[in-house]
Parts: sequence; C-alpha cells; structure tokens
Amino acid sequence: MRIAFFDSKPYDKTWMEPLAEEYSHEIKFFDYKLNADTAVLAAGFETVCVFVNDTVDADVIDALHRGGVKLIALRCAGYNNVDFKAAYRKIHVVRVPSYSPAAVAEHAAALMLSLNRRIHRAYVRTRDNNFSINGLMGVDLNGKTAGIVGTGKIGRIFIDICKGLGMKVIAYDPYPDNGTDIEYTDINSLFEKSDIISLHCPLTPETRHLINADSLSRMRPNVLIINTSRGGLIDTRALIDALRSRAVAGAGLDVYEEEEEYFFEDLSNEILPDDELARLLSFPNVLITSHQGFFTSEAMQAIAEVTMGNIRAFERDEILANEICYMCGSTCRKTAGEKRCF
Ligand code: NAD
Repeated sequence: MRIAFFDSKPYDKTWMEPLAEEYSHEIKFFDYKLNADTAVLAAGFETVCVFVNDTVDADVIDALHRGGVKLIALRCAGYNNVDFKAAYRKIHVVRVPSYSPAAVAEHAAALMLSLNRRIHRAYVRTRDNNFSINGLMGVDLNGKTAGIVGTGKIGRIFIDICKGLGMKVIAYDPYPDNGTDIEYTDINSLFEKSDIISLHCPLTPETRHLINADSLSRMRPNVLIINTSRGGLIDTRALIDALRSRAVAGAGLDVYEEEEEYFFEDLSNEILPDDELARLLSFPNVLITSHQGFFTSEAMQAIAEVTMGNIRAFERDEILANEICYMCGSTCRKTAGEKRCF
C-alpha cells in the first residue's frame, strides 16, 4: 500500500519505517498537517495516515476521495477530528483503539504529583541555585478524594494509581461498569466532593466544555484539575477566570482546546499569538505538557504495529477489526458480522 503520512515527526519515522518495510508498505512522510490545503498531496495514495491534530472534515474527505484515497488510518485512539458522516461509504477509517493506556494514566499521575508538590517550579529554582522552598507547599494526597470522569481503559489504571497513593476514589461514567468495585456517583457530586478531578472521557458534543463556569463554581476551593484527554473538555476562558480568582488551586494539562497550531512544534523563537495559552502558561499553578501522554516506547511500538497491521488487513481484504464508521453499532455491515463497515 502507498501511504501518505501526515504531520510526521522524527520519532514517527523511527517507529513506522521498519514495520512499513516488513509489511511492504511504501510511506511518504509529510511534515505538514492534513487539512483542506494539503489534502491534494495525498492524490495517488491509497491510504493517508493521520494523528490527533490533523483535520479530517467533510471538505478534506471529499478532496481525499477525489484523489483516490480509500483508507484513513488514524495512528491514535481518539477520533473527534474525523467527520464520520462525510466518510461513510467513501473512505474507510481505522484507528488504534488501545496502545498503552498505562502510558497516559502514568502521565496524568505525573501531572498530579508534580503540580501538587510544585516540582515544575522547584526544578527551575534549584537550577538557578535558588534553594528556597517558599511557595512550594503541597498537600498529602493520601486520604484525599480523586474524582475520575470516564472509567475506560485509561481511567481505570489512573484509579488504581490513586488507590495506591491512599486516595479515596469516586467516578462518573454514563456507562458504569457495575462488575467492578468503582464507586460511581453523579457528575455534580463528583465536582462537589473531589480534591483532584481527572478527565478520562472522549470529546463528544455532550462532553465539550464539561468543565465550565458552572461546574467550576461547584468545585472545592483547593481542587486540582488534570486533563490528559482532549482540550475541548475544558472551557479555557472559564478555567482562566477560576484560576485567577483562586477558585481552582491548579491545573495539569496535557491537552489544550486550541492545541492544533502549537502542540508538537518548536515555537521557542516565536511570539505566541494565542493569548489564552499564554495566560495559562503564566500561572505558577498551571503545568502544561504538549500532548505527550501517549509518548512511551511501548506505546509507539504498539501504535506502529496496529497502524501497519490495519493497513495490511485492508490491503488483503481481511476483517477490519479496528474500523469505525458513522453507523457502527446500528446498521453498518460490520455490526451485522461482515468484514467491513460498508
Ligand atoms: P475508553 O473508550 O476506554 O474510555 C472512555 C470512557 O469514557 C468510557 O468508559 C466511556 O463510557 C466514558 N464516557 C463516555 N462519555 C462520557 C461522559 N459524557 N462522561 C464521562 N465518561 C464518559 O478510552 P480511553 O482509552 O480510556 O481514553 C480516554 C481518552 O483519553 C480518549 O478519548 C482520548 O481523548 C484520550 N487520550 C489521550 C492521550 C494523550 O496522549 N494525552 C492518548 C490516548 C487517549
């Protein structure tokens, strides 16, 4: 298969190239993100491979379809950037449903622990021979309540980590797993009772701005908010207001609502044009990482294996186990037991 690989970084080549060679796929790496301007580059390729910040809307899908693309291979789990309705019956879409949920859960824990004990500030201070600990005080997490939104693969591992720290855990999920010992509660009780709130649900129209002025006003004054899921779960302006008024004690963010233009890029010589991101970065009690939750060697290996395997399954007309479509779960052909969704 000929693959147009968008938004590629040096580490993508390292992990993808050996497997592409093994599976006899031919890859062309593009540094550009996929969008309406760059979709034309995919003409003549059967597959495009995209990541979290590529744009796969109706216009892009039409352009890819015109250029002969038959498969969109997401090298990630989340798919909020894809217009599945537009893709239906035109281009098949596969993803990597799970690679290393532990990687993301551990990163959420790293954000929580660092933010609480101000490790990000201590690191900068001691490098400058400033050994003062003024302003670096945290709290014992032992005995505090962690509120987990979304108890899927990542949320559950994060729950176990919190329990290992001696925390009490409560959770909200519209599809609770009653076969576990997870203590479920309604979302407002979670907002009201939690000392730490960690988001592990997908971004959907229902979850967009789940953290907003109203939910923030319900939270405990010393709450820490951790988001390793998708930036759109948080209304950034409302979070900034809550941080400024000290209604929220801190935020650890691996994702940001408008991250597409910034995350994964080295902009250290630029003036940041996004005032909200710049404001967030100015708070001492905000710790931002650049969507690196997934970034472990185990996860990269798994992403490469599943992505190249998905493409090979498509090429060989095998069962497309990781295909998703607009009609999945109701009337698509795969739901009816066939190899593909349409
Ligand atoms: P998952 O599908 O296993 O679990 C998601 C859970 O969220 C499910 O249990 C689902 O029922 C629940 N959910 C759905 N709607 C909800 C709602 N309205 N409120 C609360 N819960 C709801 O997914 P996962 O593998 O655990 O991944 C979770 C999220 O993590 C993904 O959606 C993705 O956005 C994000 N993610 C981030 C990174 C990163 O690098 N930072 C990497 C992978 C995934």
